Amino acid sequence: MKLAGEIIVLSTIRRLAAAAAAAAPLDSEAFLAHLAQRLRRGPAGTAQFSVLCLRIDQLDAVGEALGPLWSEALLGAAAARMAGCLGPHDRVAALGGGRFAVLLDAAAGPAAALAAASGIQGALGAPLLLGGHEVFATASVGVAVAGGGTVNAADLVRDASAAMAQSARRGPGQCSVFEPAMHLHAVERLRLEGTLRRALERREFELHYQPIVCTRTGTITAFEALLRWRHPERGLLAPGEFLAAAEASGVLVPAGRVVLAEACRQTQAWGERHPGAARIAVTVNLSARQLRHPGVVADVEDALAGAGLAANRLHLEITESAIMESGEAAVETLCRLKALGVMLCVDDFGVGYSSLSYLHRFPVDVLKIDRSFVRGLGKVGACGDIVRAVVGLAHGLGMHVVPEGVETAAHLAEVRAMECDFAQGYFFSPPLPADEADALLASGTRW
Ligand code: C2E
Ligand code: CA
Ligand code: CA
Repeated sequence: MKLAGEIIVLSTIRRLAAAAAAAAPLDSEAFLAHLAQRLRRGPAGTAQFSVLCLRIDQLDAVGEALGPLWSEALLGAAAARMAGCLGPHDRVAALGGGRFAVLLDAAAGPAAALAAASGIQGALGAPLLLGGHEVFATASVGVAVAGGGTVNAADLVRDASAAMAQSARRGPGQCSVFEPAMHLHAVERLRLEGTLRRALERREFELHYQPIVCTRTGTITAFEALLRWRHPERGLLAPGEFLAAAEASGVLVPAGRVVLAEACRQTQAWGERHPGAARIAVTVNLSARQLRHPGVVADVEDALAGAGLAANRLHLEITESAIMESGEAAVETLCRLKALGVMLCVDDFGVGYSSLSYLHRFPVDVLKIDRSFVRGLGKVGACGDIVRAVVGLAHGLGMHVVPEGVETAAHLAEVRAMECDFAQGYFFSPPLPADEADALLASGTRW
């Protein structure tokens, strides 16, 4: 059986490779040379044709599920199908990384280029049998139209590629026409990523700590570690100013590793220094991308071991949207994290798109109620009912509840009356630098 399977695998790949060879994509150098030649035809700046960049959206998924031989086969099949859509003067190039560039010789404007792109999408979309799996391919496509401006061949491919990246961000099977703002954004993203990586290297990121208070005893039971960037020129920056860029560029993965290690180290040190806080815990936020990162479980293990902190004193906060975004893989990762003994908290509970179904798929310990509900307590009629319902749900499932954004004594009285177990907010303290959090612990303050 195994032998027969391999023969089918090899023969299919050979057939697809032969089809791809017949379609004969140029290499990027030959393509650029051809493009430059095409640009020189006619008076400067008047050339009227289009360049497409495209990437098959399922390439990584096929590579992960079936292996790199099959993603190669997918590329070969896509190249062959694409070739069937092109005119005699059109050219295809394989750019590497699974990307293709297409010179559409007769597409003199965006409308013609989009029509050609739609034809290619149609041809790609017919089902393809790869390794016994039916794959429906789509492509993220970007269009750049030559003509008008003073462009060179490399800039045209760059612009089509920027438009392709924009399409990919919008979801599978999308097509975008290049606009100058896309190039500016791409340059800005690159610059910001460089700045963020340098900031990480120069240790400009630091943690501030906000107490989480037990509503019954009024004492601090944990701190939430919150990231700050001590920018050399702009001063102390809150996550709102850099977190989205750090997440989008992937810098939050290595930065998050540092956060985990430092939060665990600091908490262990506080426990040793303050007898009244010997079992104090720390909560660390995990982003969607961190949650999807294969090394996250090892990172958490390393942080705990490096600090000598008991696993149950580390609480990991994941927003509902990060859980929903990361799908099945998130549930598995969360189960593995839970198996280490850490506590799991759902952050910003009750806002955005959510599904309660995950609550029984992995063991959640804490629900953090978003501060928008706390803000409305005593004012917006439904807020009190919602908080009360969440407390009922959480306690029914054996979870604790932490309302966020407790800003006034009245808020505290309300959430106490609703039997919220813990609370967090400016009423107790804003996030503090480590030395001030240390002083707060030393003071033994109770609320
Ligand atoms: P979050 O996890 O919901 O954190 C609570 C945010 O609410 C913090 O904002 C905190 O300063 C603020 N806050 C606390 N009490 C009050 C209050 O009484 N009233 C009001 N209006 N706000 C309050 P911050 O520090 O700006 O953090 C913003 C978000 O950035 C966090 O929201 C979290 O999602 C994210 N974040 C912060 N640090 C990290 C990190 O290390 N990793 C990851 N992945 N995300 C982080
Ligand atoms: Ca949080
Ligand atoms: Ca929150």
